[in-house]
Amino acid sequence: MSNSNHHFEVSKHKDYLYVIKENISLVHPVYTNDPLNLYLLLGSHTALLLDTGCGLYPLQPIVKSLIGERKLLVINTHTHWDHILGNNEFEEVYVHENEAHVVSKSYNLSFLKDSPNEIVQRYGEQNFLIPPSKIIKRLRDDDIFDLGEIEVKILHCPGHSPGSICLLTNTGELFTSDVAYYGDTFLPKRDLFPVVLKSLSKLMQICEEQPDLELYPSHQKYPCDKNLLTDLYNGIKNIKNLWDTKKSFDFFEAWQIDDDTFRYYISRS
Ligand SMILES: [Zn+2]
Repeated sequence: MSNSNHHFEVSKHKDYLYVIKENISLVHPVYTNDPLNLYLLLGSHTALLLDTGCGLYPLQPIVKSLIGERKLLVINTHTHWDHILGNNEFEEVYVHENEAHVVSKSYNLSFLKDSPNEIVQRYGEQNFLIPPSKIIKRLRDDDIFDLGEIEVKILHCPGHSPGSICLLTNTGELFTSDVAYYGDTFLPKRDLFPVVLKSLSKLMQICEEQPDLELYPSHQKYPCDKNLLTDLYNGIKNIKNLWDTKKSFDFFEAWQIDDDTFRYYISRS
């Protein structure tokens, strides 16, 4: 793993859709949601990169080699560290207005200092402070981007984080970001579960109207079908019945609860 070509695994999923995968367990074994999926959509005149990953190795040259002469849009699904640390390789990034403040300042990674994995030394070279994004553009619900033959709509889906977004294309893809994937699921404190469920309902409604949509989550398996949304919705609703089984998980300052399909980390603060 001496350079970015070995670090990222690039695959062409459709003529117009590449997936660039990165294993976040390399950073700290506590992160089990491998791989992280960065998506690259190619319209006729514009490309869209969805998230910029962990910032360990250069991503921009890989993206550049795939997009040809197209203009590039870079969008963050939300501002958790594994989705944004490559931001400063790019001229400008789009992020939902609720989280723009996070990428406008240096990102403090000191919580990773004690990782047993040597790769975190790459962050140590920057004192675990990753520089902010250069130019930040703010996204809102229902914003639309025309990539040329592909149109992308921004769906604000708060819950996993206040500015989480999903993306709906007119070519049949729903990018569900960290709002829904099969794996360890990070949830806000219990008071905010109604917000999470409302966002999932919004996506379920869209899938009702467009039953052939394919779901592309930012972690683990893709594509998924709409069962991902109903499985997660029902799982979160059932957490109240499993509340007595909760264990403390201090690294995430969370309660951990498991069911047959998901492991939930529920924020304690
Ligand atoms: Zn996240």
